[in-house]
Amino acid sequence: MKTLVCTTPGAFAYQEQEKPVLGKDRAIIKIKRIGVCGTDLHAFRGTQPYFSYPRVLGHELSGELVEADNAPGFAIGEAVTFIPYFNCGVCIACRSGKPNCCVNIQVCGVHADGGMVEYLSVPSRLLVHGEGLSYDELALVEPLAIGAHGVRRADVQAGEFVLVIGAGPIGLGTMEFARIAGANVIAMDVSNDRLEFCREKLNIQHTINPAEADAAEELRRITNGDMATVVIDATGNLKAIEGGINYLAHGGRYVLIGLQKEAFSFSHPEFHKRESTLMSSRNATRQDFEHVIASMKQGLVDPKTYITHRVDFDQVKDQFENWLNPEMKVIKAMISHAD
Ligand SMILES: [Zn+2]
Ligand SMILES: [Zn+2]
Repeated sequence: MKTLVCTTPGAFAYQEQEKPVLGKDRAIIKIKRIGVCGTDLHAFRGTQPYFSYPRVLGHELSGELVEADNAPGFAIGEAVTFIPYFNCGVCIACRSGKPNCCVNIQVCGVHADGGMVEYLSVPSRLLVHGEGLSYDELALVEPLAIGAHGVRRADVQAGEFVLVIGAGPIGLGTMEFARIAGANVIAMDVSNDRLEFCREKLNIQHTINPAEADAAEELRRITNGDMATVVIDATGNLKAIEGGINYLAHGGRYVLIGLQKEAFSFSHPEFHKRESTLMSSRNATRQDFEHVIASMKQGLVDPKTYITHRVDFDQVKDQFENWLNPEMKVIKAMISHAD
């Protein structure tokens, strides 16, 4: 089968590999869609922590279930997605119902080879029913689940002011699930195009561009002087992470979804006087995947609007580098396999 391998940073090669053979407790998916994620772009650039090469990228996947062992309730031919965080099942996190932060986690397409293939073998227990959604929609469940998980971590309540910093695909999903939780969502980004997208496509009423306005002052005005009771960073940008504390209401929660490889710091008095709660939010769980799918089915979220670029699997090698160019204004690139 044809496989696209990131051989070294900056280089892709199509290689012929053996089609996977069905193993015990495994399922084989004929891949139909591969969403391209910031992680994939960083991996291609060579700026993603914990990466080794060669690596097959791709973890936002959907496809047709073609073979399965020990997958009760799943039918051959069914459209599926799956949870791409392969967890060990025995560590403290797994035993505590947090497989998303398993000590020995192997994220498909990050620590283990991923979905830029024709057929992929995955653990049957991580399959997720397609529920009648399209392959495009199913490939968008994972990135949305990341945001849904962050919103759940923050325990967002109706009526709260939630500031989401970063309007990339993860930030957009975070905003949608904060809105679904009933929050007053405020989007912050340095790109006016992205903020316009938030207003027009996501119906977010409040947007702030910190490059153009006194962001703290704007936020104070929007929140009637209170500031945001929840601040969620979806940038992973060091300055953004360090600055986010200044937007937090007293008694608020600060959640970091974006990942930064350097140490961050902020003023202890600023952190302390708020009695701030700081948390990271890593990956997502089955509960988040199911919440995303249910929300899509109810029409509460339509992430197909995120898809700005489409390409056939055969053309990825030539197109991928373009998506790194900010002028291309990529929100979500979607790779399709011919049917
Ligand atoms: Zn991703
Ligand atoms: Zn584990």
